[in-house]
Amino acid sequence: MTQGPPPPLRITDLTVRFAGLTALDAVGFTVAPGSIHALIGPNGAGKSTCFNVLSGVYRPAAGSVTLGDSELTRLAPHRIAALGVARTFQNIVTTAGTVADNLLLGRHALSRAGFAATALRLPHAVREQRAHRARAREFAELTGLGPHFDKPVALLSYGDRKRVELARALCLEPRVLLLDEPVAGMNGAERARMAAVVRTVREELNLSVLLVEHDMGLVMRLADEVTVLDFGRRIAGGTPDDVRNDPEVRRAYLGTPGEQERSA
Ligand code: ADP
Ligand code: MG
Repeated sequence: MTQGPPPPLRITDLTVRFAGLTALDAVGFTVAPGSIHALIGPNGAGKSTCFNVLSGVYRPAAGSVTLGDSELTRLAPHRIAALGVARTFQNIVTTAGTVADNLLLGRHALSRAGFAATALRLPHAVREQRAHRARAREFAELTGLGPHFDKPVALLSYGDRKRVELARALCLEPRVLLLDEPVAGMNGAERARMAAVVRTVREELNLSVLLVEHDMGLVMRLADEVTVLDFGRRIAGGTPDDVRNDPEVRRAYLGTPGEQERSA
């Protein structure tokens, strides 16, 4: 399943304003090829805004986002996904269909056979559908959903459904995976399982991961590199250890990181 190393995702001088409020102020960082990079910061720091620019939902006032030589800045979400950057959403949207149905939806954007050809079951379309289903099954196995492949999503546990979202993003064959709070609302066992899956996916598929996450314990265990935002500015960056001991970061969290680490 492996391919060559993913290109670096470079964020340069990114600025986003909402009616007078500067949500991101000349923020820059690079998601190194094959790394797990965490974007952290207190509430309102600009993490979601950054995510929404990277995935094409928001347009920045200034700055750029590139994946290798591809300019992603201001492209529509589907173009960004086609160029290799796929995201999951913080809130689960999936409740209908089987796991297979949901993963095949993710493959839809990649389908070469047109809708009519597929509906008419023309031979090339049937072959293509079969290949998509096989690939979707591979992603299900990789994310621990193999046994649930033909089950309705509505019957799965919360943790399993969060992994369906992840597997669906993988179906777009991304080089960079953007995860928005992948363990929000999960219990300890589900969190550990998700962390293991993120590691497996990164290794097996040779992709980079950018994650926004509140669970500091998980961030510190999982991330190779951390970028810290506060009030729209990048206040620190480096390894989890660098960031943990950074006085600016401690000040931004007002002593709460220790607390969050304990509860994680
Ligand atoms: P975080 O995800 O780090 O908690 P956000 O990126 O959601 O922070 O928000 C950063 C700042 O931008 C906040 O002050 C927030 O209120 C503001 N903001 C975010 N999205 C919008 C929007 N669509 N319209 C106006 N203000 C927004
Ligand atoms: Mg947010």
